[in-house]
Amino acid sequence: MRIRRSLIDLDDLTPRELRYIFERTEQFERTPPGPLLQGLGCVNMFFEESTRTFTSFNLAESRLGAAVINLAPKNLSLATKGETLEDTALTLGALGISIIVVRHHQPGFPQRIALAFDGHVVNAGDGVHAHPTQALLDIYTLREEFGPLKGRTVGIVGDVLHSRVAHSTMRGLQRLGAAVVLIGPECFLPHDYAGAGISVERDFDAILPRLDAIVLLRIQRERFVEMPISDEEYIAGYRLDERRLARVRNETIVMHPGPYNRGMELDDSVLKFAGWRYARQVHHGVGVRMAVLDFLVNPPAK
Ligand code: ASP
Repeated sequence: MRIRRSLIDLDDLTPRELRYIFERTEQFERTPPGPLLQGLGCVNMFFEESTRTFTSFNLAESRLGAAVINLAPKNLSLATKGETLEDTALTLGALGISIIVVRHHQPGFPQRIALAFDGHVVNAGDGVHAHPTQALLDIYTLREEFGPLKGRTVGIVGDVLHSRVAHSTMRGLQRLGAAVVLIGPECFLPHDYAGAGISVERDFDAILPRLDAIVLLRIQRERFVEMPISDEEYIAGYRLDERRLARVRNETIVMHPGPYNRGMELDDSVLKFAGWRYARQVHHGVGVRMAVLDFLVNPPAK
């Protein structure tokens, strides 16, 4: 079996490939690309809840002309009849499926499918590990705002430790020359990520005026048993609210991968803030995912 190109995390893409995907996104958003995946079978397997990612993958696949099959976990023999993941991947390959898009709570699950499947796999989020297409659309949104990101400072705020979005986005930003500041209480900061282009900061108020962009994160309560900090303490130190917004620079933008929890990481004043870019992020999700699928199936000439 030939191992085909998959997207498990952003490290799979060179800076040149990242730029190619962004160019294609722009083209596809301007002019609908037509049936670039005509006749190809595409299976979406989401073992975890998803609103934005699931819907936008479905839209991207159908706009590219793929035959889209949504396999809910309860309909998979994998879940109830003892079939292994590897045998599921073999079966889907034998059926002529070309692409599997998968979300699972276990880090490494998409990689295991990719090793057994004669087709392309796209990771739509695996536990705390990675969420490459979210990172791509976040970075695309930042580039739309600022152009090249070299020299820009992006603060990623909150539960960085349990956020697969943060893990993927910081890697991509680092590659493109942006400075990343991870901001949050000690219990949510992964110190092993400090390194070239990435620093760690506990004092949100002190760093606030220096940020070009603020990426807020949800506290990923489903990934730990006991909240390591009280809600009140978290809100006092890290919620973006009216008082803190008054201190951000005029051109600063605020982003969130969604779903956002009003009252925790942000208050309603953020949703009315001129620099709030959540809807742009969601919008770009379809174009970026079309570009990724096309890139994997119809790679550019080297
Ligand atoms: N939707 C993103 C994810 O699936 C972020 C979140 O759930 O907070 O990782």
